[in-house]
Amino acid sequence: MNIILSGPPGSGKGTQAELLTSQLNYAHFSTGNVFRDHITRKTPIGEQAQKYINQGKLVPDDVVLDVAKDFLAHNQKPGIIFDGFPRTIGQAQGLDKVLNEWQNKIDFVIFIELPETEIIKRLTARRTCLTCHAIYNLDFKPPRKPGICDVCGGKLYQRSDDTEPVIKQRFMVYEGQTRALKDYYKKTHHIYEIDGTLGKDQVFQEIVKLIKK
Ligand SMILES: [Zn+2]
Repeated sequence: MNIILSGPPGSGKGTQAELLTSQLNYAHFSTGNVFRDHITRKTPIGEQAQKYINQGKLVPDDVVLDVAKDFLAHNQKPGIIFDGFPRTIGQAQGLDKVLNEWQNKIDFVIFIELPETEIIKRLTARRTCLTCHAIYNLDFKPPRKPGICDVCGGKLYQRSDDTEPVIKQRFMVYEGQTRALKDYYKKTHHIYEIDGTLGKDQVFQEIVKLIKK
């Protein structure tokens, strides 16, 4: 079973992907994590990706797809959660082609939906520890002492990309990419939209209900 899980920043898509991998023993494909792994192991793909990242450039689709291909070739799990990937039509087409070569396919395309006002509310409440990088949320997961990390006693700060103007910009980029991707997948798949305002546990139940049907 292969699932694409998409959602705007702040939708909790990464958390859902982790819940699914731990509870259903799926593999978790997140481009960021997989790239970091290749870079740490100094693989040829990792060295190529590092070049683009060092120059502050986006890693091109063919390199991203090489990473996906390598991941699929080594995957032993019953399914994969693609977390925030594909991002472009080129990546989506490439992924379909690669899966097809393995007589495999995408079974579910799931979008967690969240209105912009809610995203701003969630992300502006986020605080990060300067020392250990633990993440807090003033609404859902406040630190025991205001401004101080529970884990290490470090100082909490607001990341510069968690401010309203930057969040609005990130959401706009996401919306543009997503519109194109939805059009692409609508032609070949049924798209499932889940209300992200339901909260972590309820969203997880909805996803499980879907894939166990
Ligand atoms: Zn800390």
